[in-house]
Amino acid sequence: MRLDVITIFPEYLDPLRHALLGRAIERGILDVAVHDLRSWTHDVHKAVDDTPYGGGPGMVMKPTVWGPALDDVAALSGPAATVRRLESAQPHVPSDAVDIGKAHADGDNRPVLVVPTPAGAPFSQDTAERWAAEERLVFACGRYEGIDQRVFDDAATRYRVEEVSLGDYVLIGGEVAVLVMAEAVVRLIPGVLGNRRSHEEDSFQDGLLEGPSYTKPRIWREREVPEVLLSGDHAKVDRWRRDQALVRTAATRPELIEALQREGALDDRDRSVLDAPGE
Ligand code: SAM
Repeated sequence: MRLDVITIFPEYLDPLRHALLGRAIERGILDVAVHDLRSWTHDVHKAVDDTPYGGGPGMVMKPTVWGPALDDVAALSGPAATVRRLESAQPHVPSDAVDIGKAHADGDNRPVLVVPTPAGAPFSQDTAERWAAEERLVFACGRYEGIDQRVFDDAATRYRVEEVSLGDYVLIGGEVAVLVMAEAVVRLIPGVLGNRRSHEEDSFQDGLLEGPSYTKPRIWREREVPEVLLSGDHAKVDRWRRDQALVRTAATRPELIEALQREGALDDRDRSVLDAPGE
């Protein structure tokens, strides 16, 4: 997968070089290019923003800068052709070039343009799974009051545009949102996590939050690990984990339980655990 990020703070994306993502770069599974939006400015001040039409506080990012930037990043032309790709923080082996013309499963080879914005559709594990199957994701990091809306209407000819929100709060810029989304997506790419089961059993994969986890020592500060986890009986352990997941989800995210009920995804045993938690 190739990730392109367009931002006025390229150094903000440096964490993508580390840990699991750095290892994915190192192994040629992931390729990351961070583009400085100011490469597409034409004035001496390298201005990327201007006052809003209609008045009001704050500044809006200019279409005359974002438009050419998105054109070049889609085609890997202009400043985007020579952008330095992120090197893994691990000892480096250069990765192969990515085929940007490879078609998506439905024959549409336009890359996805991800636009982080509080006004977007909520980003979720389902979104992450969908994007993990993409060949290429391009992220447009807004700052100030955001980006002139015409940029995205226009970009729809070259990209499949998705406006997404991390949650019901307002960040200062899109960079942190990109770090969050990139982690959630990249860890789902086959081969990135050492053990495939690690994400198959994570929260949200089956519509539930994951229950508690324990490691050695068996007794710590007089607190014992639940007996069932020491039993070696895998069926019993699986059932206990599901029970814990049901109870935790009902306590903190009851709407997730309601969704599973509507989908008919709970069996009699699940319902009895929810009716009498702790029994
Ligand atoms: N004026 C915008 C509004 O009220 O919807 C907020 C702009 S915010 C200060 C600047 C940038 O931060 C946005 O363009 C977006 O890239 C990013 N951002 C802020 N909150 C976000 C959220 N909840 N999810 C995703 N991105 C967010």
